[in-house]
Amino acid sequence: MKRTFGEAAVEVTEGDITEQEVDAIVNAANSTLLGGGGVDGAIHRAGGPAILAECKTLGGCKTGDAKITTGGNLPANHVIHTAGPVYRDGKSGESEFLASCHTRSLAIVREYKLRTIAFPAISCGVYGYPIPDAARIAMRTVVKELEQHGGIDLVRFVLFDRPTYAEFARALESVRGTNGS
Ligand code: ADP
Repeated sequence: MKRTFGEAAVEVTEGDITEQEVDAIVNAANSTLLGGGGVDGAIHRAGGPAILAECKTLGGCKTGDAKITTGGNLPANHVIHTAGPVYRDGKSGESEFLASCHTRSLAIVREYKLRTIAFPAISCGVYGYPIPDAARIAMRTVVKELEQHGGIDLVRFVLFDRPTYAEFARALESVRGTNGS
Protein backbone atom coordinates (compact mmCIF):
# COMPACT_ATOMS: atom_id res chain seq x y z
CA MET A 1 0.00 0.00 0.00
CA LYS A 2 1.01 3.59 -0.59
CA ARG A 3 0.24 7.12 0.60
CA THR A 4 1.72 10.49 -0.24
CA PHE A 5 2.88 13.14 2.19
CA GLY A 6 3.88 16.40 0.60
CA GLU A 7 6.09 15.49 -2.36
CA ALA A 8 6.98 12.05 -1.07
CA ALA A 9 5.40 8.62 -1.40
CA VAL A 10 5.49 6.20 1.50
CA GLU A 11 5.06 2.54 0.53
CA VAL A 12 4.81 -0.68 2.48
CA THR A 13 5.69 -3.90 0.70
CA GLU A 14 6.45 -7.52 1.56
CA GLY A 15 9.82 -8.66 0.22
CA ASP A 16 13.59 -8.81 0.46
CA ILE A 17 15.36 -5.51 1.02
CA THR A 18 18.51 -6.68 -0.76
CA GLU A 19 16.56 -6.72 -4.05
CA GLN A 20 15.30 -3.15 -3.88
CA GLU A 21 16.24 -0.76 -6.67
CA VAL A 22 16.45 2.40 -4.62
CA ASP A 23 19.26 4.88 -3.95
CA ALA A 24 19.85 3.52 -0.44
CA ILE A 25 18.71 0.59 1.65
CA VAL A 26 18.89 0.71 5.42
CA ASN A 27 20.62 -2.05 7.35
CA ALA A 28 19.42 -2.94 10.86
CA ALA A 29 23.01 -3.37 12.00
CA ASN A 30 24.58 -3.73 15.41
CA SER A 31 26.82 -1.08 16.90
CA THR A 32 30.07 -2.78 15.87
CA LEU A 33 29.08 -2.58 12.16
CA LEU A 34 31.09 -5.76 11.75
CA GLY A 35 28.25 -7.93 10.53
CA GLY A 36 25.53 -10.03 12.12
CA GLY A 37 22.57 -12.21 11.30
CA GLY A 38 19.10 -11.37 10.01
CA VAL A 39 18.86 -8.54 7.54
CA ASP A 40 22.48 -7.54 8.27
CA GLY A 41 23.77 -10.95 7.18
CA ALA A 42 21.56 -10.89 4.08
CA ILE A 43 22.85 -7.45 3.02
CA HIS A 44 26.52 -8.42 3.41
CA ARG A 45 25.97 -11.71 1.58
CA ALA A 46 24.20 -10.06 -1.34
CA GLY A 47 26.36 -6.93 -1.46
CA GLY A 48 29.77 -8.58 -1.21
CA PRO A 49 32.93 -7.75 0.75
CA ALA A 50 33.21 -4.07 -0.21
CA ILE A 51 30.50 -3.18 2.31
CA LEU A 52 32.23 -4.82 5.27
CA ALA A 53 35.59 -3.39 4.20
CA GLU A 54 34.13 0.11 4.38
CA CYS A 55 32.27 -0.62 7.63
CA LYS A 56 35.58 -1.51 9.25
CA THR A 57 36.84 2.03 8.69
CA LEU A 58 33.86 3.70 10.38
CA GLY A 59 34.55 3.05 14.05
CA GLY A 60 31.18 1.51 14.80
CA CYS A 61 27.82 3.22 15.19
CA LYS A 62 26.11 4.31 18.41
CA THR A 63 22.56 3.10 19.06
CA GLY A 64 20.19 5.47 17.24
CA ASP A 65 22.88 6.75 14.89
CA ALA A 66 23.46 5.84 11.21
CA LYS A 67 26.41 5.66 8.81
CA ILE A 68 26.58 5.24 5.03
CA THR A 69 28.67 2.94 2.86
CA THR A 70 28.72 1.72 -0.72
CA GLY A 71 26.04 -0.73 -1.79
CA GLY A 72 28.69 -3.01 -3.28
CA ASN A 73 27.00 -5.46 -5.64
CA LEU A 74 23.48 -4.57 -4.52
CA PRO A 75 21.01 -2.88 -6.88
CA ALA A 76 20.99 -0.02 -4.33
CA ASN A 77 24.02 2.30 -4.61
CA HIS A 78 24.34 2.82 -0.86
CA VAL A 79 23.68 1.09 2.43
CA ILE A 80 22.82 3.17 5.47
CA HIS A 81 23.73 1.18 8.57
CA THR A 82 21.80 2.06 11.69
CA ALA A 83 22.00 0.50 15.14
CA GLY A 84 18.51 -0.06 16.53
CA PRO A 85 17.81 -0.46 20.24
CA VAL A 86 17.56 -3.84 21.92
CA TYR A 87 14.06 -3.91 23.42
CA ARG A 88 14.10 -4.30 27.19
CA ASP A 89 11.00 -3.02 28.98
CA GLY A 90 9.83 -0.10 26.81
CA LYS A 91 11.05 2.35 29.45
CA SER A 92 14.72 2.40 28.57
CA GLY A 93 14.59 4.99 25.82
CA GLU A 94 13.83 2.40 23.15
CA SER A 95 11.25 4.52 21.33
CA GLU A 96 13.58 7.54 21.14
CA PHE A 97 16.42 5.40 19.85
CA LEU A 98 14.18 3.75 17.27
CA ALA A 99 12.84 7.12 16.07
CA SER A 100 16.41 8.39 15.89
CA CYS A 101 17.44 5.51 13.60
CA HIS A 102 14.83 6.73 11.10
CA THR A 103 15.59 10.44 11.53
CA ARG A 104 19.35 9.96 11.14
CA SER A 105 18.92 7.70 8.09
CA LEU A 106 16.74 10.31 6.36
CA ALA A 107 19.21 13.07 7.27
CA ILE A 108 21.97 11.10 5.51
CA VAL A 109 19.74 10.62 2.47
CA ARG A 110 19.26 14.38 2.25
CA GLU A 111 22.94 15.08 2.90
CA TYR A 112 23.95 12.82 -0.01
CA LYS A 113 21.14 14.17 -2.19
CA LEU A 114 19.59 10.74 -2.61
CA ARG A 115 15.88 10.53 -3.39
CA THR A 116 14.70 7.00 -2.65
CA ILE A 117 15.25 4.82 0.41
CA ALA A 118 14.05 1.47 1.74
CA PHE A 119 13.83 0.58 5.44
CA PRO A 120 13.50 -2.87 7.02
CA ALA A 121 11.65 -3.36 10.32
CA ILE A 122 14.51 -2.07 12.49
CA SER A 123 14.79 -3.85 15.88
CA CYS A 124 11.86 -6.17 15.05
CA GLY A 125 13.98 -9.33 14.75
CA VAL A 126 16.45 -10.53 17.38
CA TYR A 127 16.29 -7.12 19.11
CA GLY A 128 12.72 -7.99 20.10
CA TYR A 129 10.80 -4.74 19.62
CA PRO A 130 7.02 -5.34 19.72
CA ILE A 131 6.13 -4.99 16.04
CA PRO A 132 2.95 -2.87 16.31
CA ASP A 133 4.81 -0.32 18.46
CA ALA A 134 7.85 -0.31 16.20
CA ALA A 135 5.65 0.14 13.12
CA ARG A 136 3.85 3.12 14.64
CA ILE A 137 7.08 4.80 15.69
CA ALA A 138 8.76 4.19 12.34
CA MET A 139 5.80 5.55 10.39
CA ARG A 140 5.17 8.56 12.59
CA THR A 141 8.84 9.55 12.51
CA VAL A 142 9.18 9.18 8.73
CA VAL A 143 5.99 11.12 7.97
CA LYS A 144 7.03 13.95 10.29
CA GLU A 145 10.44 14.15 8.63
CA LEU A 146 8.95 14.15 5.12
CA GLU A 147 6.63 16.96 6.06
CA GLN A 148 9.46 19.03 7.54
CA HIS A 149 11.98 18.54 4.74
CA GLY A 150 11.66 18.17 0.97
CA GLY A 151 14.03 16.39 -1.38
CA ILE A 152 12.93 12.78 -0.91
CA ASP A 153 10.67 11.07 -3.46
CA LEU A 154 10.10 7.66 -1.91
CA VAL A 155 10.35 5.90 1.42
CA ARG A 156 9.60 2.18 1.11
CA PHE A 157 9.27 -0.15 4.07
CA VAL A 158 10.21 -3.68 3.01
CA LEU A 159 8.90 -6.33 5.38
CA PHE A 160 10.12 -9.87 5.26
CA ASP A 161 7.01 -11.70 6.42
CA ARG A 162 3.27 -11.29 6.22
CA PRO A 163 2.52 -10.46 9.91
CA THR A 164 5.17 -7.72 9.96
CA TYR A 165 3.89 -6.39 6.65
CA ALA A 166 0.35 -6.30 8.06
CA GLU A 167 1.45 -4.23 11.07
CA PHE A 168 3.36 -1.73 8.93
CA ALA A 169 0.44 -1.46 6.51
CA ARG A 170 -1.89 -0.76 9.43
CA ALA A 171 0.52 1.88 10.74
CA LEU A 172 0.69 3.57 7.33
CA GLU A 173 -3.09 3.53 7.03
CA SER A 174 -3.60 5.19 10.38
CA VAL A 175 -0.66 7.61 10.57
CA ARG A 176 -1.80 11.20 10.55
CA GLY A 177 0.05 13.64 8.34
CA THR A 178 -0.78 17.34 8.28
CA ASN A 179 -0.76 17.61 4.48
CA GLY A 180 -1.03 14.00 3.40
CA SER A 181 -3.58 12.21 1.27
P1 ADP B 1 17.32 -6.41 14.66
O1 ADP B 1 18.59 -6.93 15.27
O2 ADP B 1 17.35 -4.90 14.45
O3 ADP B 1 16.10 -6.89 15.33
P2 ADP B 1 17.00 -8.40 12.47
O4 ADP B 1 17.84 -8.47 11.25
O5 ADP B 1 17.08 -9.51 13.46
O6 ADP B 1 17.38 -6.97 13.14
O7 ADP B 1 15.49 -8.21 12.06
C1 ADP B 1 14.94 -7.03 11.58
C2 ADP B 1 13.82 -7.34 10.62
O8 ADP B 1 14.37 -7.63 9.34
C3 ADP B 1 12.96 -8.56 10.99
O9 ADP B 1 11.60 -8.22 10.80
C4 ADP B 1 13.42 -9.62 9.98
O10 ADP B 1 12.37 -10.52 9.67
C5 ADP B 1 13.71 -8.75 8.79
N1 ADP B 1 14.55 -9.31 7.71
C6 ADP B 1 15.44 -10.34 7.76
N2 ADP B 1 15.98 -10.52 6.53
C7 ADP B 1 15.44 -9.58 5.70
C8 ADP B 1 15.58 -9.26 4.31
N3 ADP B 1 16.41 -9.93 3.50
N4 ADP B 1 14.83 -8.21 3.81
C9 ADP B 1 14.01 -7.51 4.61
N5 ADP B 1 13.84 -7.78 5.92
C10 ADP B 1 14.54 -8.80 6.46
